[in-house]
Amino acid sequence: MKKEETLSEIRKELEENESMPLRESNLVFGEGSPDAAIMFIGEAPGFYEDKEKRPFVGRAGKLLDRLIGDIGMRREDVYITNIVKRRPPENRDPLPEELSAYRPYLTREVDAVDPKIIATLGRFSMNYFLPDGKISRDQGKVFWWGEKILMPLYHPAAALRSTSVLGDLEKSFKTLKAVVLKYDELLRQKREKPEPPSAVTPESNKEEQTSLF
Ligand code: URA
Repeated sequence: MKKEETLSEIRKELEENESMPLRESNLVFGEGSPDAAIMFIGEAPGFYEDKEKRPFVGRAGKLLDRLIGDIGMRREDVYITNIVKRRPPENRDPLPEELSAYRPYLTREVDAVDPKIIATLGRFSMNYFLPDGKISRDQGKVFWWGEKILMPLYHPAAALRSTSVLGDLEKSFKTLKAVVLKYDELLRQKREKPEPPSAVTPESNKEEQTSLF
């Protein structure tokens, strides 16, 4: 099946699944290139996203667009989604049961797009991949997730509230650009390196930080 078809199937299932939480809000599915090398994963839609039924179209989204532009890419070149795909009331944090209800759909979306690089935005999507991750400690670092690179980043909404967070996020985007350019070489090096006994797999949910950055 083509990536587009798989993605529309996932979207349709989500639309029709009446047991999903937050059904009073609109479904905001991922968008962008299904062949993207980079997949950005945020937390949950906000007011404008709910209105437009598109991810990251509010102020945080405008900043994300600018940061993507700064590394020489366009929004259409990447894939952008959220872990929770409907807006929680008053933009509150997603509840654990909401996160777990939407998780399997994110897993399928990641599998469908199969990006080289996953950039999580904020702690909720980082914790999907790194359950013990700490955003202030791990943002901007580069991890292997199977054969994908995982980069936890600050959420752009946090960068709108703090110039120091914005500075860190801008710096991390520079690393992200370097990772995009070096991905094939990094993967080759990883494949050539004998696997340590505790091989890291997505299934084990354990991260391995690459020492190259
Ligand atoms: N914040 C998010 O995490 N996702 C959006 O789509 C918008 C704001």
